[in-house]
Amino acid sequence: MRNAEQKHKARKYSPSFLVDAMLGNIARKLRIFGYDTLYLKDTSDTSLLGIAMREKRVLLTRDKELFRRIIKDGVEGMLLEQYDEIGNIAYIMSKCKIPRLCFDTGVARCSSCNIILTIRRAIDVAGFLPVNIVKNNSNFFQCMNCGRIYWEGKHVTCLKLLAKRINSRIEKYEADPNVLNSIILNKRLKSPQKHNPLLSQDEQNSSLR
Ligand SMILES: [Zn+2]
Repeated sequence: MRNAEQKHKARKYSPSFLVDAMLGNIARKLRIFGYDTLYLKDTSDTSLLGIAMREKRVLLTRDKELFRRIIKDGVEGMLLEQYDEIGNIAYIMSKCKIPRLCFDTGVARCSSCNIILTIRRAIDVAGFLPVNIVKNNSNFFQCMNCGRIYWEGKHVTCLKLLAKRINSRIEKYEADPNVLNSIILNKRLKSPQKHNPLLSQDEQNSSLR
C-alpha cells in the first residue's frame, strides 16, 4: 500500500476526475489505469459542480448543458462527445497533457471502489479463489474496501493492448492539434458502440479489471 501511494506521488501529474452518470465505463477504465476517479450516478448538476470545484477534480460529462455550466462556473471539465471509448480516454489524456498511458498494477485502483489495490500473496487469497487460479498465478491484489481480489490474468494483456491503442490515438491527436479541437465540435455521426470485446471480457470475469 505504501509503495502504491509513493508511486502515485511520484507521478509528475496525476489529475483526479469526477465522472457523471453517463460515463461509467470511462470511470472504471480511469481507475484501472490508476487515476483517482469519483463516479456519481444520482447527483444533481449543482452538486457535481460543487464537488469538482472543492476537490479540484476534472469533471467529465456527456451532457452539453452541464458542460455549459462547467464553463460558466470556471470548473475544470471536459465534454466527451465521442462514443468511441478509446477516443474519449485519449482525448482526456491529451487535454491533461499526459502523453502516454501505462497499465501498472502498482498504481491500479479497484474498478468498483476507486481504492488503490493492495498486493497480496497466494497464501492470503487461497480459499477465496478457485485452486487453479491460485496455482497458476503469482501476483494478486485486493481492494481492502470491497474485498474483491484481482490477479494478473489474461486481462493484463488486454489492458496493455488497450493502453497501446489509446497511446496511438494520443499520438495522432498530438501530431495534429486540430483533430483534438474539432472533437467537441463533431456531430454524432456514428452509432453508439454496443459491444466492446475488451469491456465484455472485463465484465464477465473477476480478474484484474
Ligand atoms: Zn473495491
